[in-house]
Amino acid sequence: MQIEDALAPYAARAANSRGRLHAEEPSAARGEFQRDRDRVIHCTAFRRLEYKTQVFVNHEGDLFRTRLTHSIEVAQLARSIARRLNLNEDLVEAISLAHDLGHTPFGHAGQDALNECMREFGGFEHNLQSLRVVDVLEERYGAFDGLNLTFETREGVLKHCAENVARTLGDVGERFLDHTQPSLEAQLANLADEIAYNNHDVDDGLRSGLITLDQLKEIPLFRRYFDQAERLYPAASERRRINETVRRIINALVLDLVTQSEANIAAAAPGSIDDVRHAPPLIAYSETAHQESLALKRFLRDQLYQHYLVQRMSAKGRRIIRELFESFMDDARLLPPQYQAKAEADRARAVADYISGMTDRYAMREHRRLFTVEET
Ligand code: MG
Repeated sequence: MQIEDALAPYAARAANSRGRLHAEEPSAARGEFQRDRDRVIHCTAFRRLEYKTQVFVNHEGDLFRTRLTHSIEVAQLARSIARRLNLNEDLVEAISLAHDLGHTPFGHAGQDALNECMREFGGFEHNLQSLRVVDVLEERYGAFDGLNLTFETREGVLKHCAENVARTLGDVGERFLDHTQPSLEAQLANLADEIAYNNHDVDDGLRSGLITLDQLKEIPLFRRYFDQAERLYPAASERRRINETVRRIINALVLDLVTQSEANIAAAAPGSIDDVRHAPPLIAYSETAHQESLALKRFLRDQLYQHYLVQRMSAKGRRIIRELFESFMDDARLLPPQYQAKAEADRARAVADYISGMTDRYAMREHRRLFTVEET
């Protein structure tokens, strides 16, 4: 167990947690945020992350990131930064591992399609769905629905939220109405997510051949560290030089984040987590690193996510989601029995919960079962 007395005064502490929705006895062996982390790792939605897309659909190659490996990378980055800043490692780990639990199959294309389908029924947003997974959908405990996580983990999972929705969420919605900040651990998990996906998308993008080294060398952040890797290892294979580049970019972004955040914290001088909530966001890049990271993000958006081969898979994913949604909305008897019961109360939400829980390959299989006449 991390010794909480040694943490910075503005770190989150399990001892001061706002607690769980359903009161539970403390554990003799583990802190409250450790328990949250363990509950996430053991839940069904976490195991499904292995077969959910980040950018590439799961069957496109065994070496590409999935949402599971992405979540593990986020947790690793967040923990090592938390240690440097003397923040609560257990909490950042719990938040990082839970942050993508609500993602639909087929990445952002899937979420957009489901949101479109749900337009008249309250919409669909993966971030909100992650909270719904841990608060409501997981069925593991006799006494309550969901995982009954602490407030601090739940507020970290809910990264953003519209005001009209925030009003319906109780305690975790409040900060979107009074415009305060979440814990530094939540702010950190959010930025670790960005560092992770920008860098692994560069790596996966190159590996897939959809983007090229020549294109990436136009991006200053990449160019600087690629040149460095070439100078140091002129005889190394291209793959090794790419790895050396990516690890340098990650390292530079992490160091910048630590340095700038330390300066922000020193300037705001928060004495407690309450002060953190009323300060501006304190975990941040320097302006230079922010701009460079943004340039890389834009490059990935224009060259990788918009690539016609990615678009083709996205279009297929959207079509599958739409057709599944329409089928189940037309005839709830096509749903598995446990969802039929839920559909009686709110058909659209039950269908959205069912579809969003699917892995990429499960969604494709379910689509075949509903639309293909011959046995497949
Ligand atoms: Mg993520």
